[in-house]
Amino acid sequence: MRSQRLLRAFPFLAAVLLALAPLVLSPFTVTLMNYIGIGAIVALGLVLLTGFGGLTSFGQAAFVGIGAYATAYVTTALGLPAIAGLVLSLAATGAVALFLGAITLRLGGHFLPLSTIAWGIAIYFLFANIPGLGAYDGVSGIPPIVLAGVSLQADGAIYYLIWALLAAGMWGIANLLDSREGRAIRSLRGGATMLASLGVDLFRVRLAIFLIAALLAGLAGWLYAHMLRFISPSPFEMRPSIEFLFMAMAGGATSIYGAVIGSALVILLKNTIQDILPHLSSNATQLEIVVFAVLLILLLQYARGGVISLVRRFLPVKLSLPMAAADGLPTRTMPQPGIALLRLDTIVRRFGGLVAVNRVSFEMKSGEIMGLIGPNGAGKSTLFNLVTGALKSNSGQITFLGRDISRAPQRAIAKLGMARTFQHVKLRPAMTLIDNTLIGAYPRTTSGFLRCLLRLDRAEDARATRSALDALTFVGLGDKAMELAGNLPLGNQRVLEIARALAADPILIVLDEPAAGLRKAEKLALAAQLRAIQARGVSILLVEHDMDFVMGLCDRIVVLEFGSMLMEGSPAEVRASARVQEAYLGGVA
Ligand code: ADP
Ligand code: MG
Repeated sequence: MRSQRLLRAFPFLAAVLLALAPLVLSPFTVTLMNYIGIGAIVALGLVLLTGFGGLTSFGQAAFVGIGAYATAYVTTALGLPAIAGLVLSLAATGAVALFLGAITLRLGGHFLPLSTIAWGIAIYFLFANIPGLGAYDGVSGIPPIVLAGVSLQADGAIYYLIWALLAAGMWGIANLLDSREGRAIRSLRGGATMLASLGVDLFRVRLAIFLIAALLAGLAGWLYAHMLRFISPSPFEMRPSIEFLFMAMAGGATSIYGAVIGSALVILLKNTIQDILPHLSSNATQLEIVVFAVLLILLLQYARGGVISLVRRFLPVKLSLPMAAADGLPTRTMPQPGIALLRLDTIVRRFGGLVAVNRVSFEMKSGEIMGLIGPNGAGKSTLFNLVTGALKSNSGQITFLGRDISRAPQRAIAKLGMARTFQHVKLRPAMTLIDNTLIGAYPRTTSGFLRCLLRLDRAEDARATRSALDALTFVGLGDKAMELAGNLPLGNQRVLEIARALAADPILIVLDEPAAGLRKAEKLALAAQLRAIQARGVSILLVEHDMDFVMGLCDRIVVLEFGSMLMEGSPAEVRASARVQEAYLGGVA
């Protein structure tokens, strides 16, 4: 526990050391520290965007450039104070990021890196060719920042502003990552299907982290311009963009501290290389790129997690459970038992020439457990995807709670109270059980990015944590809340998906082969759990192969064959049907 206390004291210790640094270090070292701080602000954005969000930007230096040029223009040509420059720096980088993000992020993750490369190259030539911005000569005579009457002209003075802003940024990003939006961000890697089924607007989350990363870069540009008091286009081209990515990677892209470590590493390394290379070659700049490329390859090969992952091994693991409130989130009023809950009316879904679901109609009543059976390829998963909105039907209508959801996006359907699990478990193995379950509560909570950044979401998050813990306890995983989902055996992973669905406070749970891969005892436990869920008034629609499991559990059963409905009825009726015997049961036995 002494090590735990040490870990908690670390930020204060670091703050004291950093505050004393300019008093004891040489002016040259202080200047170097300023560069490290500015680099870390940019790298912090990339830690969020790339390390956690899985999106890569090769254009961060261009955002730094926009921030720098915006303030340079306002403070020199218009003679306004640096604070006005900051407003414009952030407004300009924000506007460009929103524009770029809006056109590329809808298309999925791969378009962003490509467009940022194009944008990074274009902006450099723009800076270099606009006479009003000094063309290749750049802009000089940029005034220092003046805060409350104090000029931050000296390197030892702006140092405090740089590191204070970096600390504030780290605080905000740490808050964000530990919030409802942060859990969505950390889940972005590993596929969109699960998040969309839980009501997360992926485009909005991607756009937000792209914007935050750009704003951090714009802030860094503002600091850079007023520290150097002179800017030219070259620090904002492709190469520094790659250096920023290198910083995030080298430090460790999945830790906010990685941004600082990486920035220090890269800037000190560059300094050393620049001292040594001229002795070796007359082409020092080119050689520098080569050295960096080699180091990047080595890094990717041997230390993917960056420096922080080497250090982490020796640090105590954070074991404390997130704060849970006494009460959970407000719950829905469940519909009256027995009313029409879900209705499918002549649903058709084709894949090319194949009719995967062919004119299927059935109705499910509130409070029922309904089973869907049929041989492999009968169209069960496709039907589930249609019901949950992951796929759209070619024709027919699906009604949920009296509303036509045939064309509704997954998100909207999730918000109405439908939650699902997947035939192939979709969890985030590197996240804890409680975090995985909390993602389920996403559609029940409302704190946006700003509230999360500023830690104003704590009350809501504590209630969500209570609801998630209750769901975990309900399925029997309450004592494993802080374990990583990836360490669970498959049976427990399926159960964890059910806990995640329960955390959404659903009216209807849709389960795709929940008993697949489970042992006999686990199946019995699962059946008991599903009955307990039903007893809470939640309706369940499930696909299953195990006949005994389905027959013993379901109130009613729909049988599919080759995409068409063979029959609908009680377990006894289905068991007695000669057609089902022939088509399905006979085939299995
Ligand atoms: P089940 O879950 O009952 O085993 P599926 O719904 O997965 O069946 O598949 C029904 C049929 O639709 C199968 O023939 C399958 O090959 C086809 N199918 C399912 N998804 C797709 C897809 N995305 N593209 C093309 N064909 C698909
Ligand atoms: Mg299937």
